[in-house]
Amino acid sequence: MTTRGLNRRKFLGRMAQSALATLVVGRASKQIAASASIKPTSVVVIGAGLSGLYSALLLEAKGISVTVLEARDRVGGRIYTLDDLPGKPEAGGQSLSETYQRLLTLAQKLKVPVEPLQQLDRALLLHINGQSVLTPDWSKSMANQLAESERSIVPPRLLTHYLHPNNPLEDATAWRSPTHFDLDIPLDDYMLAQGASPEALRLMNVYPFSMNSLETASALWAFKNDQQVQTLSKTMMHVKGGNSRLPEQMAASLNSVVQTKKVVTAIRSQETGVQVYCSDGSTFQADYVVCTLPFSVLRQVEIDPPLEGAQAEAVQELPYTIVTQVHVSVTNPFWEEDGYPIRMWTDSVLELVFPHKDASGEVQSLTCWANGASAKKLDAMSEQELGQFVKAELKRIRPATEGNVEIARVVSWGSDPYAQGAYAHFAPGQIRGFQNKMAKPWNRIHFAGEHTAIASPGMESALESGERVAGEILVRVA
Ligand SMILES: Cc1cc2nc3c(=O)[nH]c(=O)nc-3n(C[C@H](O)[C@H](O)[C@H](O)COP(=O)(O)OP(=O)(O)OC[C@H]3O[C@@H](n4cnc5c(N)ncnc54)[C@H](O)[C@@H]3O)c2cc1C
Repeated sequence: MTTRGLNRRKFLGRMAQSALATLVVGRASKQIAASASIKPTSVVVIGAGLSGLYSALLLEAKGISVTVLEARDRVGGRIYTLDDLPGKPEAGGQSLSETYQRLLTLAQKLKVPVEPLQQLDRALLLHINGQSVLTPDWSKSMANQLAESERSIVPPRLLTHYLHPNNPLEDATAWRSPTHFDLDIPLDDYMLAQGASPEALRLMNVYPFSMNSLETASALWAFKNDQQVQTLSKTMMHVKGGNSRLPEQMAASLNSVVQTKKVVTAIRSQETGVQVYCSDGSTFQADYVVCTLPFSVLRQVEIDPPLEGAQAEAVQELPYTIVTQVHVSVTNPFWEEDGYPIRMWTDSVLELVFPHKDASGEVQSLTCWANGASAKKLDAMSEQELGQFVKAELKRIRPATEGNVEIARVVSWGSDPYAQGAYAHFAPGQIRGFQNKMAKPWNRIHFAGEHTAIASPGMESALESGERVAGEILVRVA
C-alpha cells in the first residue's frame, strides 16, 4: 500500500518520527533534546518489547539507523493480548495507570486509543483453610486463623497492612539510597519482627505480587512496590482492542521492519563495533547494541568480552517472579447457581480467580492466576494433568463450576523461553549488592528493560528504561 508515493511503513515512520521528536519526557530528555547533530550511527536493538521498541523509535527520530531483532514471531514481549480467546484477556501487562506519562503520551502520538478498564467487581469470595467466606464475614469466620490483632484484615490486604504504615521511602527513587539498605533483608524476617503471625505469613505468600515468596524477596523491594502502588490512579486503563495494539503500532511506526524469529545467542563488542549472532546463523553488525533481554534470558547469551563483577552477578542471579495463568472459558454462569461473587482469592494452588468482561459487562472468561510456588506446581504438570487438576480444584473450591468451565489456554511465563519469568525482583542483599551497577553500559552494549528501571512501575518502567538507553547512546554519538 502506498501513500502519495511513499510506502505505508515509511509514511507512518516519518509521521511517527516527527511526533516522537517532541515526545521525550523525564530524565533523559535533556540528553536527547541536546543531541541535535549526531554522527551517522547504527544500532541493533535486541528485543521488541516496550523497552526495545521505544528506544528504537527515539533513536530513529534522531536519524540513527536501527535494526530490531526479536526472538518470537510477534512483537510486544510481555505485552500479550490473547486475541483468539473470548474477551481477549491479557496474558502479560494487564492495565495501565493514568500516571503512566510516557505511555499515555506515546499512545496519543501514535493514535492508539486507551480507555478505562471495566472495574473489577468489589465483591470477593475467599476460600481459605477449606472454607468459602465472603469478605464481610471474614473477621468472624472459623476459617480465619490469624492472630487476634490481624483478624479483621482480609488476606489480600495483609501485606499492605504490614508494609504501608511503616514505609520509610520518601519518593519513587529512595529505595536505591544506602540510607535504606538496612531493609534489604528477607521480607519474612521483617514481617516476623513486626509481629506477623505464622498464619499471616502463610497467607501473605499467596500471590505476594512481584515476588515468589516473602523468604526470597527483599523487604526493601516490597517497600518500593508499596510506594509505587500508591502512585497508581484509581481508574486503571487499557488499550482499546487489547494492549498488544500499542507495541504493534510502535513497530509499524519504525522505518525498518522488526526482524522476528531472530533468537540472539551471542554479542561481541569490539573497538570498532558490535556483532550480534542469531541461532539461525545470521549476524548483524552495528556501532552499538541496546539489549533489552530479561536477565533471566540474557544469562544464556554469550557476551564477549564477558561482563564482570557485580554486573555479571546481577545477570546470573536476579530472580524473576514465576506466574502461570490458566484461562478458562465459561459455558454456563455458575455464579448464578451458587450466588457467590465470581472473583475469588484462595489459598489453593489456583490462588486468584477473576473474570474478563466485555464492554457490556458480560463475563467472557476467567483467569486463574498462580504465583511463585503455586505456579511452579502447575508448570510441573503435563497439559492433560493440568487441565484435570484445575477443573478438579475449581470444583472443590466452587462446586457450581462442575460442567460449566473449560480450559481455554495456559500461559506460563516461567517456562516461556524468551521471558523465563514475569517480572524481575530483588532477593535480600541484591539492592545493596548490584542494583546500581546492573544497567551500566558494557563497552558498546547498553542495557534496557523493565528490570533496569528506577522510578516507574510495570509498562512505564520499560519505557523509562528505553528512554534512558536512547539518551546514553545519543550522548556517545553527539
Ligand atoms: C503476567 C504479567 C502481568 C503484568 N501486569 C502488568 C500490569 O498490569 N501493568 C503494568 O504496567 N505492567 C504489567 N506487567 C509488566 C509489563 O508487561 C512489563 O514490564 C513490560 O512489558 C516489559 O517490557 P520489556 O521491554 O522490558 O520486556 P519484554 O517485553 O520481555 O521484551 C523483551 C523482548 O526480548 C525478546 N527476546 C527474549 N529473548 C530473546 C533473544 N534471545 N533474542 C531476541 N529477542 C529475545 C522477547 O521475546 C521480548 O519481546 C505485567 C507483566 C506480566 C508478565
